[in-house]
Amino acid sequence: SPPQGYYTRRGGIGEGGDFVTSPEISQVFGELIGIWCISEWIATGKPKAFQLVELGPGRGTLTDDILRVFNQLASLLCKCDVSVHLVEVSPKLSEIQALMLTGGKVQSNPQDKSAYMKGISKTGIPIFWYRDIQDVPPGYSFYLAHEFFDALPIHKFQRTEKGWREVLVDIDPEVPDQLRFVLSPSSTPATENFIQPEEMRDHVEVCPEAGVTIQRLACRIEKDGGAALVADYGHDGTKTDTFRGFQNHKHHDVLRAPGTADLTADVDFSYLRKMTEGRTATLGPIKQREFLKNMGIDLRLQVLLQNSRDTATQEQLLHSYDMLMNPKKMGDCFNFFALLPHHRLVCPDKKHKLESKSPLPPVAGFDDLLLK
Ligand code: SAH
Repeated sequence: SPPQGYYTRRGGIGEGGDFVTSPEISQVFGELIGIWCISEWIATGKPKAFQLVELGPGRGTLTDDILRVFNQLASLLCKCDVSVHLVEVSPKLSEIQALMLTGGKVQSNPQDKSAYMKGISKTGIPIFWYRDIQDVPPGYSFYLAHEFFDALPIHKFQRTEKGWREVLVDIDPEVPDQLRFVLSPSSTPATENFIQPEEMRDHVEVCPEAGVTIQRLACRIEKDGGAALVADYGHDGTKTDTFRGFQNHKHHDVLRAPGTADLTADVDFSYLRKMTEGRTATLGPIKQREFLKNMGIDLRLQVLLQNSRDTATQEQLLHSYDMLMNPKKMGDCFNFFALLPHHRLVCPDKKHKLESKSPLPPVAGFDDLLLK
């Protein structure tokens, strides 16, 4: 909702906000994702141009850390035309992103049907802002979605003796200013369309907007090449009831004071995989701690520890490493999931899975995974 929605009004990411995310915890997170993009770019023969497309960039920290890596690898990228494309609905967050990435030097074009804002990064790379992925120009691209899909709205369903019913939000007739959950008395268009015929669970959450977005990414990757990296908390089609709210880093009743709290539901990676079927190959989901370990987080931590002079910085580095990697913190519940063109994983002349003797280089971060 433009006037009343959480992200369009508040969107409190960071210590002073409602929730904190991995890019905000450690610079290493974004650096390793930057290396992932470069690694895929090299593996696909260093195309002459690529777009970095981020969905829901929050404060812009992830892209900022990635652009620092691109700048450090400038000699490698010197013949490549790199541009950044941010898909963001929140006016407030896009301002924060502009400040972070360009120092605030941006041109607003609210009338422009596609990019509503343009600027140049501190490292000289053009940046464009859009409200919808469909407005991003076509072309070989790396698509990043970190804690994006969990923010999109879900439908909730419950299996009953009479068949599937949708869980709806109603005005409580007995308590003023209070909402309540009710079951639809009969089936709804959503129950008819969004439940998979083979569904085994009794309670299901479905995010059709996530399905549409991942299909768009899959179509673009199939046509123009590149890859998508989705990182989020989620499950592989097993969980039932994950819808929850956060305000000031505390759990918040999802029905109380709508628009003031971050509402979120776990990403169902099995649903995303199903929606891409036929168009792209998928890798994962794998746990964040495995992905970051495969990407070399331990080595990067050692270098930063050696380069830091004071113990306070070292403690901060170790603390943020623990937040990202500890299975009890973010290490296990966050997952990485990738979309890649089929030909990136399977040789066109061989129908079977990638073998060690194959000339195709492995996909960084997903080292041990077989094609799913
Ligand atoms: N990726 C960031 C922010 C995650 S919060 C991080 O990890 O720190 C979710 C982000 O998605 C916010 O930037 C929010 O404004 C944006 N967002 C939410 N719904 C959106 C939609 N429908 N289209 C585009 N962006 C959206």
